[in-house]
Amino acid sequence: MLSPREFLLQECRNVEELLRDALRYDYGPTGSRFFFEECYSRLQAITGFAKTLTDFNRKEIRFYARELSHLSRLIAQIERSHIGEFPWAFGESLKKLAERLCADRDLDKGTQIKKAGHPLFFIMAEGGLSAFEARKDSNRTRLCKRQVFTIVVPRSLKHHVLLHAVLGHEVCHAALWRSKLHEQLNVAGVSLGKITPLTNSQELLKWIGKACPKLEAQFKPTIEDVRRRWLQELLCDLFGLVFMGPAYFAAVRTMLGLSDPTGEHIDPSHPPHVWRYQMLEYAYRDLGWDNSLPKSVNNDTQVAALRFNTALFDYNHSAMCTDTVIRRDLVVSATKKLSKLLEDFGGFGYDKPEAKTLEHLLSDIQALRPPIGQTVKTGKIKFLRPDFRQILHVGWLACHTKVDKILPQDSKHDAFTTINRLCEQAIIQERAIRKSRIRRSGKKKGRDRAGA
Ligand SMILES: [Zn+2]
Repeated sequence: MLSPREFLLQECRNVEELLRDALRYDYGPTGSRFFFEECYSRLQAITGFAKTLTDFNRKEIRFYARELSHLSRLIAQIERSHIGEFPWAFGESLKKLAERLCADRDLDKGTQIKKAGHPLFFIMAEGGLSAFEARKDSNRTRLCKRQVFTIVVPRSLKHHVLLHAVLGHEVCHAALWRSKLHEQLNVAGVSLGKITPLTNSQELLKWIGKACPKLEAQFKPTIEDVRRRWLQELLCDLFGLVFMGPAYFAAVRTMLGLSDPTGEHIDPSHPPHVWRYQMLEYAYRDLGWDNSLPKSVNNDTQVAALRFNTALFDYNHSAMCTDTVIRRDLVVSATKKLSKLLEDFGGFGYDKPEAKTLEHLLSDIQALRPPIGQTVKTGKIKFLRPDFRQILHVGWLACHTKVDKILPQDSKHDAFTTINRLCEQAIIQERAIRKSRIRRSGKKKGRDRAGA
């Protein structure tokens, strides 16, 4: 039999083996270096401490065994975020923004500790339809230099990038784990706390008592927790919309519509869906995303935009008196503050493209081309270079066109999958074009310097 100390050291070797095993996968261009550095650093620290222990240091052995267990769980999670397990180009684009947003800005200024304070994000596919979530690194981990956040998407939806727009919500949960951002985001969303049932626990209990009397007793013991959770979920929804754009609202409507078609279910973890829809609608309108497109764009684009907005706003506004409970002025105030906050961070908010750009990208999808706005003029190829969130926006618009008419007979029934595939390809292509331009401009600068 092994003594606890011997087994702890054995497990350190086992975890090292796990980490080496995980290295055999390709994790994408920005890949795995920082993650493996972080894991090795944690493992070395645990192994170093474990070697100094005796079997009588029971408390310490327990502590390091827990740390080790957390580390191996983390490695197992990350192992499932390798290429092939989710749309890597989408993941890279989202991770880049999320890591920049959650970076420790004070540390950033000191170049000697560059990247030291940045959390790392990984996206993995696991579980069923309700699997979307952000997972925090362990609170207990004293040995970590960088936090590792994992974002989970359902396995069955791993290639459905249009639905992955909901991950904007999970990025907000991760941002709320950073103390400075937590404060800034809550200040931006402060007016949401003035929605009458959310002002205090008694008001919420009163509202639940009216909406569904039989739930009042069940919710009473934890009502303050419920109130805080609902507020945070609304804040994450608003962030998701401002950050990811119209695609966020469409993905939320699609996902939530399946789990609760009426939108009136009362659950301790999230506010009723109709509340969420109403808040998103007010914000969407305040951002001007519902404005009809100018007559200069083609009819298909105008009709698609109109149908898309109509579908987004198609729910029972008067269910549970939602249209009076969720006040427009409070939502507008939070939307403006959140947009300003994301703007101040360096353009994190969604930038709606020009109507003509939308038209061009939509025409790409209608011709079954990835929507990157390619044109050939006087022998030169040009691209519109859309942001990945704009590609998702156009993908959702395409769902409101008759794209199925031009699909081959055997895939007519599944236009959604085709549109998703085209959008995924567009994000990959756009990334490749950007990278090759950066490489070319780097070479040109090098030649200019050499020639100077
Ligand atoms: Zn949430």
